[in-house]
Amino acid sequence: MFELRHVSRRYGSSVALEDVDLRIEAGRSTALIGPSGAGKSTVLRMLIGLEWPDAGTVLFRGEPLQRARLLEQRRRIGYVIQEGGLFPHLTAAGNVALLARTLGWSRARIDARVQELAALCRLPGDALRRYPAELSGGQRQRVGLIRALMLDPEVLLLDEPLGALDPIIRHELQAQMRELFATLGKTVVLVTHDVAEAAYLADPLVLLRGGRVVQQGPARELLQAP
Ligand code: ADP
Ligand code: ADP
Repeated sequence: MFELRHVSRRYGSSVALEDVDLRIEAGRSTALIGPSGAGKSTVLRMLIGLEWPDAGTVLFRGEPLQRARLLEQRRRIGYVIQEGGLFPHLTAAGNVALLARTLGWSRARIDARVQELAALCRLPGDALRRYPAELSGGQRQRVGLIRALMLDPEVLLLDEPLGALDPIIRHELQAQMRELFATLGKTVVLVTHDVAEAAYLADPLVLLRGGRVVQQGPARELLQAP
């Protein structure tokens, strides 16, 4: 689904990624793990063209990501960040409908899709009328997921999606996300610094450190490492 070929990226003198080669297979959930600053988010942001390599190439379905086609390519990719990354001045419903509205979807079509996804992501209906600041962290996360799924993307990119939640809610959402991934059957790329979460939600795992891929493969092999 995605491929990085010899990708490097620097910010000033600091190296975010150094000669990264990586393939993300379709239909699987892949987790990018590693300590803070390893380059995980930079990889994820490159997959959706929020960041570009200084050297190397990013391929999406065998074609280079292209700035000229980015809007079209991005519609096929859902992206969720910590706390959902919602616009604070729009209600939850406004947030999830935004893109579909700009694409000219009818109100009825939008409503039907939102209802379907709210049930799937277990968001109570009244939460849709609230503003992000009036929602719990877990609800904001669910709204972010619904927004990302509106256009039925081929891929779901998740950057520390549960990072801001307290442990009990986090645990509950992990279980629901696992179920959701199985139901959707989409390609998922998950960034997390929590190895247990990665192993629970994804397989294979890719371990980054200092901007390099140091290990990748099936979770059971990586977690056995000495
Ligand atoms: P991770 O997601 O694994 O925590 P990141 O991909 O966010 O790591 O960052 C990798 C490295 O690149 C870090 O050293 C970080 O400080 C640096 N970096 C990332 N984004 C920027 C930026 N916009 N400006 C400067 N440095 C950045
Ligand atoms: P310009 O800014 O000259 O109009 P583009 O918008 O096509 O050119 O690209 C700007 C930057 O993005 C360049 O540094 C280019 O190398 C990089 N870039 C564009 N497409 C890709 C790709 N598929 N993989 C890696 N880098 C890319």
